[in-house]
Amino acid sequence: MNFYDSEKIIDLLKPLGYKISKNPENCDLAILNTCHIREKASEKMYSDIGRLANFKKNQNADNQMTIAICGCVAQAEGREIIRRNKAVDIVIGPQNYHTLPKVLIDKERKRGKNKKFIGNQFPRESKFDFFPDPSFNGYTAFVSIQEGCDKFCTFCVVPYTRGAEFSRPVNDIVIEVKKLVSLGVKEVTLLGQNVNAYHGNFRNNQNYNEKYSLANLCNLLSRIKGLIRIRYITSHPADMTEELIREHKNNFKLMPYLHLPIQSASNKILKAMNRRYTKQDYLSIVNKLREARPDIALTSDFIVGFPGENKNDFDETIDLVKSLKFAASYSFKYSSRPGTPAALMQLNVDEDTMNFRLETLQNVLNSQQLEFNNSFLDKTIPVLIEKPGKKSNQFVGRSEYLQPVHIFSDESVIGKIVKVNISSVTSFSLHGKVC
Ligand code: SAH
Ligand code: SF4
Repeated sequence: MNFYDSEKIIDLLKPLGYKISKNPENCDLAILNTCHIREKASEKMYSDIGRLANFKKNQNADNQMTIAICGCVAQAEGREIIRRNKAVDIVIGPQNYHTLPKVLIDKERKRGKNKKFIGNQFPRESKFDFFPDPSFNGYTAFVSIQEGCDKFCTFCVVPYTRGAEFSRPVNDIVIEVKKLVSLGVKEVTLLGQNVNAYHGNFRNNQNYNEKYSLANLCNLLSRIKGLIRIRYITSHPADMTEELIREHKNNFKLMPYLHLPIQSASNKILKAMNRRYTKQDYLSIVNKLREARPDIALTSDFIVGFPGENKNDFDETIDLVKSLKFAASYSFKYSSRPGTPAALMQLNVDEDTMNFRLETLQNVLNSQQLEFNNSFLDKTIPVLIEKPGKKSNQFVGRSEYLQPVHIFSDESVIGKIVKVNISSVTSFSLHGKVC
């Protein structure tokens, strides 16, 4: 989501004459797009501001860079960021990016030369209405369809930083995807903090509004000629409806690869997290998905060391991972976030135990990832080639399962889907020959 937001910020600032600088020491405008999800991510921001402040200090006093902090830390901490480092000029939360050009123009006109700007209210208008048309940025593209979250998992800051759940209208999404496809895009990834809770308005030919689910939306998008692959991320297990599972069975543009975070497999911990499903619910969803689409591969997110997690709870998670087998996953140590209900819970897992659990889990997940990649040896698979590789005549693309695939070819195959026979694999990539 932050990657997508950064692209949109770049698009918004292009008409003002801004270009990406290769030289941060001496740029006119430095933007940090920040993440608040775990403590480490937000602390990193303060050290990066320190570095930028030093660059700024070394610039000519009349022509110093503007430092803008965007993203969820900006939303959560607002004025505190400027209090901690006066070199920061602008603080803008994720729902206010569209105001950035105006704020910069005002500043350029010297009206607000030394004035600080803080934009972390939730505005009435939607920022999406202000974004310029997408420009070509590669053969794959992200399209944000949903933002915010109403689930309030007890560990998570998203409902406070991104705000209440909001679904973009279907018609706007279709226009954006058609535009991207006309520019050459072959694959779109639909984005949302809780993407399968999507419920957007569709204005039909008779000008009536209908509610569209994510399954309806994927179905509609799959009719766009030239669009070959559709993905979506991140889904919540409680919103994995029968209808969406059916869409996976019937819609072959929907990639057989799904990120479905479970966090923990202990029902006691899931309840304390307010995840709204049990281990049994999760297993049943996976069974249905695998029945509907036998080639589907799953990835997940895990948190170890949530308050109250004991050895038995953790062992349940390990047992589930061993029985389900994931293609790839993200796992994190629990990080207490100010303002969330879990921050008030008693932390009972010490740092060593947390490290041990994380390492144990990651060992199992990594070996499953290698096992998954190994299963592609000698197989011929479709690969969307995205860019040149590091070596001459080398190209890199992605499989249907998002694995990077390296190939050699005499002719440029960028932007094409080619059939590749896989001859070697590592934990993170596949290598092969074009057939
Ligand atoms: N909406 C998605 C998750 C979005 S946040 C879902 O419900 O699954 C991305 C991931 O960050 C989460 O899945 C979780 O594993 C991790 N995460 C979020 N808050 C965290 C915290 N306080 N400590 C550690 N990991 C956290
Ligand atoms: Fe955060 Fe995801 Fe839970 Fe929403 S569903 S509160 S984004 S973890």
